[in-house]
Parts: sequence; C-alpha cells; structure tokens
Amino acid sequence: MSTRPDILFPLFAGLDSLDGIGPKTAAHFANIHVEKPRDLLFLLPYSGTDRRMRDTVAGVPAGEVATVTVTVKRHSPARARGRPYRVFVDDGQIEFPLVFFHANDRYLTAQLPEGARRVISGKLEWFDGTPQIVHPDHILEPDAVDGLPDYEPVYPLTAGVTQKVMARAVRHAVRLAPDLAEWIDPSLMRREGWPSWADALHQAHSPQATGDLSPETPARQRLAYDELFAHQLTLALARADQRRATGKPTVGDGTLRDKVLKSLPFAPTGAQTRAIGEITADLAAPYRMNRLLQGDVGSGKTLVALMALLTAVEAGGQGVMMAPTEILARQHLDSILPLAEAAGVVVAVLTGRDKGKERQSKLAALARGDIHILIGTHAVFQKDVEFRDLRLAIIDEQHRFGVAQRMELAAKGQGAHILVMTATPIPRSLSLAQYGDMDVSILDQKPPGRTPVKTALVSTARMEEVVAHLRGAIDGGRQAYWVCPLVEESEVMDMTAAQDRFVHLRAVFGEGVVGLVHGQMADAEKDAAMADFVAGRTKVLVATTVIEVGVNVPNASIMVIERAEHFGLAQLHQLRGRVGRGDAASTCLLMYQSPMSETGRRRLEILRETEDGFRISEEDLAMRGAGDVIGTAQSGLPRFRIADLERQANLMATAQTDARALLHTDPDLTGDRGRAARVLLWLMERDRAIKLIKVG
Ligand code: ADP
Ligand code: MG
Repeated sequence: MSTRPDILFPLFAGLDSLDGIGPKTAAHFANIHVEKPRDLLFLLPYSGTDRRMRDTVAGVPAGEVATVTVTVKRHSPARARGRPYRVFVDDGQIEFPLVFFHANDRYLTAQLPEGARRVISGKLEWFDGTPQIVHPDHILEPDAVDGLPDYEPVYPLTAGVTQKVMARAVRHAVRLAPDLAEWIDPSLMRREGWPSWADALHQAHSPQATGDLSPETPARQRLAYDELFAHQLTLALARADQRRATGKPTVGDGTLRDKVLKSLPFAPTGAQTRAIGEITADLAAPYRMNRLLQGDVGSGKTLVALMALLTAVEAGGQGVMMAPTEILARQHLDSILPLAEAAGVVVAVLTGRDKGKERQSKLAALARGDIHILIGTHAVFQKDVEFRDLRLAIIDEQHRFGVAQRMELAAKGQGAHILVMTATPIPRSLSLAQYGDMDVSILDQKPPGRTPVKTALVSTARMEEVVAHLRGAIDGGRQAYWVCPLVEESEVMDMTAAQDRFVHLRAVFGEGVVGLVHGQMADAEKDAAMADFVAGRTKVLVATTVIEVGVNVPNASIMVIERAEHFGLAQLHQLRGRVGRGDAASTCLLMYQSPMSETGRRRLEILRETEDGFRISEEDLAMRGAGDVIGTAQSGLPRFRIADLERQANLMATAQTDARALLHTDPDLTGDRGRAARVLLWLMERDRAIKLIKVG
C-alpha cells in the first residue's frame, strides 16, 4: 500500500471543500497548521459555553452567557456616528436592549422585526443597573433553536477565523470522518472503555459539560493514544528495519576485558555490570544492536563503552567512538588510551584537525586493521574513512540527535552495531517518544564515594563576595569553573561576555591564573587552555557552555554559573556535574540577576534541592512543555496535537509495548489489525513509517 487509502480522501481534500470556507479563510486556517479537513479533527475544543435556556436575564451575573426567548419591542437606530443601534426586547420579566455598533440597519430590521419572538444568546453585561447584550452570539427563530447546542464547544482561533466559522467547519469535518477498522488492541479497548475512532471524534467535538473537555475522558484518551500509537508504530518499524540489517554476531573471549578490569582501582557498579551484560548479549546476536545507554553525568558510561569496544576487538574486529566536540574526543582518548594500551590494544584519534599525510597513514592503518579502536569527532564518519572490520559504532553525548539523524548514522555505520550514549536524563515518557526505536540500558547508580555538591543561589549584586570566596578557595589549592551567560544563542556574543569576564578575573587573580575557553577559539587554543586547566597550571577556567558535556577535571570543585536563570535545567545539571568528581567538598554557585520571575526562582531551587538528574528532568517537564525540555527543533520529537507527554506517560508506554507486539505477530502489517494500522499511519501522516513497511 504505497498510496493513501481512498477512504481517507475526503479528509485530505482542500479545506475550502468545507462548509463556510473559501480560499481566503482557508489561508487564515493555515496559520494554525490547519490545511485540510483532517487537521480540524484533531483540533479539539479547549472550553465550552453553556447555552441552556433561561427564563429571564434578571439576576444573571455580568459576564455570564444568557440564552432567553424574547419579544422584540422597538428599534432605536443610532442617533449619530459612533453611537450604538439598540433593539429593545422583553423576556417576560424585564425589558433590556441588544446593542449593536456599526450596525447594518436593514439587516437588523430583517433579523429582529418588531413584535417577533426570538431566541437570543450572548454575554450579559450590566450598564447603569440595566442588563444588556452587546452583539449577541446567536439570534434564532424559536423553531430553529434545535441548532443551538446546550453546551457549545469553544475552539482555538486565529485572526480571520471566528468561532462560528470554526465550529461549522469542524462539524463538517467530523461528518466526513469515516468508520475505520479498529487498529487498537481489542482487549485494551475493552479495558479502557474507549469508543471507536469515529465515535471518539464525535464525542470530543460535542462536549455536554466542562468535564467532557478533560484529557481524562475516554474519547480524548483514545484520540491521544492514536497519536502515540502511530508514533510508536513508526519507531517500532524503524527498529524492525534496523534488526533486519543483520549485524555480525560479535563474541569476545573476555581476555582483553579481564586485563582492563584487573588494572582498574575499582570494581564496576551493579548498573555498569548490567549494562555491559545487555550490550554483550546484543553484540552476540545475529541482528544489529541499536541501543541507548542513558546515564547521568559521572555514572561511568566510559567504562561501559570501553568494555563494548574491547568485545569487538576480542572478536577480531574494530570499534569506533564518536564525541560531539574535539575536547571530548581527546578526553575519551586520555581515559581509554592507557587502559587499552596496557591490554595491547591500538587506539587512535581522528578529528577534523587531521590533515594530509598523517591522516592518510591513519586511514591506511585503519583499513589494514592495525588500529583497533578509533576515537574522534564526526570526522570518523567521513566518506573516505574505511575500516577493515567495523563491528561497533558508539556515539557519545548525542542527546541532540533525532530519530532521522540516528538512522542516517546507522546507514553510514556499514552494518555495525550501534550504541548511543546520552548523559541527559530525560523523563520516561520523553525517552519513549524520542528513543522508542532503540533498546535502552540505564545507569541508575553512581560509583561510590562521591561527595554531594553544595548548591547556592547568589544574586549578581554579590559578585565581589563571590570573587573573594573564590580567591580563598584558590589559595587553598582548589580549582574553579566560571561559566558565562548564554547571550541569545549567539556564539560570538557568548565569547564577548566570556572575554570580558576573563579580563575582569585576570585583573583580580593575576596573570596566568585564569584560563579562557569558548567556541570561537581555534581547536589548538582550546586544547591548550583545557590542558592548562587539567594540569592545574590555571586555577580558574572561564568558559562558555563548551564545557557542558563530559569534561572531567577531578580537582575542580567550584562551579560558578552566571545568569543561571537563562539556562535550561538540564543544562545547569550538566554543568554542575563537572564538579563533585574528586574527594574535596564541592560548591556550585548559581548567580542570578534580580528580580527573578517566580518560575525562574523555582527552577533554580529545584537544583538546590536535588542532584538526581531524573527528578530534575521530571520537574523540568512539569514546568515547561515537552518540546522545550529537549528543544523540539533539534530533538526529533514529534509535535503531538492531542497527546500530552507530561500527563499521559503511561499511554506512551502502553503504545510502545502494543506497537512492538503488533509488529511481532504481524511484521508486514497484512492482517486485519495490521491493515487498520496502516490506515492509521496514513491518517497521522507517518510517511516515513509507511516506507519502512516491508513490501511483500
Ligand atoms: P560519565 O558517565 O559522565 O561519562 P565517566 O565514565 O567519565 O562518567 O566516569 C566518571 C568518573 O568515575 C571517572 O573518573 C571514572 O574513572 C570513575 N568511575 C567509573 N566507574 C567507576 C566505578 N565503578 N567505581 C568508581 N569510579 C568509577
Ligand atoms: Mg562521559
């Protein structure tokens, strides 16, 4: 099925095929991403207006909507420009005016002839002790009152689209929704008491009371589930596709791993051992691994990665590990090289800085198989980089990668097993949404012997105190990071801020004590600045967020973050994770500019309360939208129209289990439910997923 099923055609027609919509109105709808009838189905009312009939407007509080039957008494046309036109009506108990500005007299006489009975509905106002309704929402003849629902849905609007036009268009779109074969597991439907798709749409668009607008109603739950299920089915198809790409079963004899483990001054944590076991099993399997290793900063992901790489080498193959920045690639090299070399394993580094002859000879050694483990930046995936027998590709800290990018990388990985490592703890619902195509290992346990980081909030007004405190600490042999504010996502502006602070601190602490690193520096300069800090030659490192991920300097025990209120919670958590790595008690100073907003303060307080990355991420999600937490633009996270990732995390988990189960029993989606699920994918515009369905 490579074309959209006929049954969905009316829903994918032009918007101007709907009642009351011409090309001009259709253009307005486009501003809220409504381009076809289908889009209207998923635009749900957010509120409702009670239009139940009342006997009289007498006693109705100002601001409430009143719906009453009246007799038209007399017209009082506008006496001057800018004055209102009034039509006095009587509901049997009280006479009051309907008020119209810029009225069309002829229209009003036709609509409200004197002596006629009419049903009027609109917001009641009180003016000088008299009730009035300005521009009633509805003026109906009494026998047309059936057209007025007791409870009228209120939709989100955009300029050029009125509530009436919207409601009419939505009603038409809902009428176009066909009965579709059910794609949800029947037992789940029963357990949850969900209506069919078409019924759910009808119910969601015709609320009878405020309670019907809740995301907890069976209709809305079902519609949310459809979105999540379509998404998880997409991911499950991607996963199945990955698995079809057969990986080379890679089983090591354990000799290299044993050697390295014996040389370590510590034993792996339980979580590390578990993750290593999961990865080893994946590598040994005949299909390609596609696994995510999720672990907070300092949870010891590097060791897990190294064990996986060594398995590849034991099996006679090669491994590659890619980091997002030069600094991180070097740091991985520094931590892995001594361990690997002790075991007789050859490790090399390849970054954008490798050029000419040296690069050529590295590539040749790689192609011969003389290099066992390659570490580098994205340069390791350049076209001309060839391995003799690549078994495993590890991508570190790529929490900014979306599903699509991962699939691209996997394609370049020449059939190698894939392990993605992320240090960003994200809430379970988001993790399922973003990484649902992968299997996940979690390092939920930190290596022992860590001292908690003391976190404090300090106003920038107390800058001098902070600097004085820092001087004391430096005199005591400690080192500090000083992170400068993010200036509107501009690296150039960040640099200026960092440079200014650098000059200031250098003036205070003296020449040679303060280092500087920012994204605009040449790689060699950056490395030199980092190396000075790692070696303890500089005591304070002024930086932009280039130090955000991964950097490890155990002697650094103070983290100052300027304008912390401008950073995301996850980012602050990452930055703080740079300290607390040694034996010394560590401090994190979150400097903020007063006055801070209430949410700004609450966000920083969460950091003060906990160092648990998962808890921080859950709070972050609760305070912001799902998209914001990882940055929708880069996250590869779909925008859901109905589903709410924060409140419907359980639905997401169910959707994943169910999608995988469906593909397990019906891998080609050719059974009854499978075919229905295909229609769902079309309905949800999951074109990429449809391409992944195995043909024939
Ligand atoms: P991350 O998950 O942030 O990449 P690392 O792999 O850099 O963490 O590990 C952080 C520090 O913890 C390193 O200095 C590493 O040597 C140390 N470490 C890793 N595993 C253990 C362990 N099981 N016991 C003690 N220290 C460990
Ligand atoms: Mg790391």
